[in-house]
Amino acid sequence: DLLVVGSANADLVIGVERRPAAGETVLGSDLAVHPGGKGANQAVAAARLGARTALLARVGDDAHGRLLLDAQRAAGVDPVGVLVGGAPTGVALITVDPSGDNSIVVSPGANGRLTPEDVRAAAGLFQASRVVSAQLEVPLETVVEAVRHLAPGSRFVLNPSPPRPLPRELLEACDPLIVNEHEAKVILAGADGSGADVGEDPQGWARALLALGPRSVVVTLGAEGALVAWPERVVRVPSVTVDAVDTTGAGDAFTAALACRLGAGASLQEAARYAARVGAVAVTRHGAQESYPTAAEVDAL
Ligand code: ADP
Repeated sequence: DLLVVGSANADLVIGVERRPAAGETVLGSDLAVHPGGKGANQAVAAARLGARTALLARVGDDAHGRLLLDAQRAAGVDPVGVLVGGAPTGVALITVDPSGDNSIVVSPGANGRLTPEDVRAAAGLFQASRVVSAQLEVPLETVVEAVRHLAPGSRFVLNPSPPRPLPRELLEACDPLIVNEHEAKVILAGADGSGADVGEDPQGWARALLALGPRSVVVTLGAEGALVAWPERVVRVPSVTVDAVDTTGAGDAFTAALACRLGAGASLQEAARYAARVGAVAVTRHGAQESYPTAAEVDAL
């Protein structure tokens, strides 16, 4: 079974002709409200693929929280770990202009109140999970607490997004650490506090990240696929050529699919190949959770 520890947000999206400057008001399209947040996205993606999945997260006692819970249940996620109350549900206020450029304000809300104590109280979920997957849209100390509760023999997968320098204890638990280009650069630049230039070679990032302590590293490269790296070697995983229409949530689909396959006993390389196929389907459809395929749809690709 898979346990996702992470965020749940309502994404409030308005299309505009032009994003407003300071002091300016612009009129936009009708409001669209989508369930989102990296934790909620990953849990939905995994459940759609057929994995038994639970989500440890916190939402507010409000309409956005109910929307998120409904989306989790509809996808087949066990919602027992979704805690309610303490602050309003996290929200992302998104304006998008006709060229697709956006401006986003995030209110973490209840995500910021998911505490190490909440992790300790969910010990039963950890005991039942072969793979635990996390991101960084909840407090770092909560994610660090999660790796202290892994069941014997279970595996921890981290997508450090939004990126920040990571403590050694967390890095050493990752198998794998999954990063895109931006995340790789931020984590490497912060590693020695120097902000040093880390170069433009993804193989170099993978090796440098491994030197920080994770047992394995995956670098996702968008349409270029991904790299899978262990201390002994680096392997390229090809992407699937598709007509991309919306890359929102592709990284979350990739991470969830990889975690699912690891939980089913696949090797990291096999899991990354499957994840690249899932990511490819996700970018051919609009939205995040709405874009995630079932296992049958991935097989049909
Ligand atoms: P993030 O969304 O975190 O920036 P990426 O853009 O690297 O992550 O995408 C994650 C994965 O999704 C990629 O490794 C790849 O497998 C798949 N993917 C993303 N964009 C495309 C694309 N245009 N064509 C095919 N696959 C893609």
